[in-house]
Amino acid sequence: MQTTGDISAMRKIVRALSRPLGFVPTMGALHAGHMRLVDVAREECASVAASIFVNPMQFGAGEDFAKYPRDVAGDSTKFVGAGVDVLFVPDVGAGAGAKAVAEADTMYPPGFSTTVDIGAMGMVFEGALRPGHFAGVATVVTKLLHIVQPDVLYLGQKDAQQTAVLRKVVRDLAFATEVRIVPTVREADGLALSSRNAYLNAHERSAAPDLYRALLSIRDALAIGAKKEDAIAAAHLAEGFELEYFDIVDADTFESLENLRAPAFIIGAARLGATRLIDNIWIAA
Ligand code: AMP
Repeated sequence: MQTTGDISAMRKIVRALSRPLGFVPTMGALHAGHMRLVDVAREECASVAASIFVNPMQFGAGEDFAKYPRDVAGDSTKFVGAGVDVLFVPDVGAGAGAKAVAEADTMYPPGFSTTVDIGAMGMVFEGALRPGHFAGVATVVTKLLHIVQPDVLYLGQKDAQQTAVLRKVVRDLAFATEVRIVPTVREADGLALSSRNAYLNAHERSAAPDLYRALLSIRDALAIGAKKEDAIAAAHLAEGFELEYFDIVDADTFESLENLRAPAFIIGAARLGATRLIDNIWIAA
């Protein structure tokens, strides 16, 4: 596996790779969910590129940018084992904290000011609770796509709104990239794998699968004809959870649906102690 932190070097490496080229962008702290994306890319493409970048622009003030788990050495070993051809780890400046890093690195050079605004879809649910989050995601992924020029972009269903936002960016701005959404990888008890699960203490970890169970209960209630508000009102979360939202949304627009109409996501987000958990269930057409 070749590894670089430099944009020109990365462009040169990817130009020499066999096509089709699959691309898996990540923030590192790799788990089996990330590795599933790599495995699917490996099966479907002649070459695979990955990136690790904890993107300061998608973290809000007071979020976990500084303490987000980082293990580039361990992650590299995992990517090598999975057959990744090239890893892009953009060089970052020496500054401390989101602002200093943002002003001093490869992805955000001095004077950087051009951003991607996806409109209303970036303002609801995760976008409402994390202002600026999707502008950060859309901007960094746009830049990564320009650098890597992949044929296929691999994204996890775990971040459902992110998949809708990035499919929209690719469509609206005519990227020559296909988007593939890979189903969520879960622990045996149903908890969706997430780098942030590392923040959960033992008690929280045992309660955490409740979010997925609640989503399943909403799905099952809707399937037997319950109204949306009744299905959501009946969903139960263990003590210690603070619900942020449950809803049913159109899979393409992320508009809230009164009646389930596939393709859709049943989405949920809740705080458990200091950790935010999000999850969803895909309702296929
Ligand atoms: P992150 O490192 O959190 O930015 O995630 C990188 C990619 O991995 C995104 O496309 C995520 O949606 C995806 N991903 C994260 N968790 C999972 C999971 N449990 N199953 C499948 N994909 C995931």
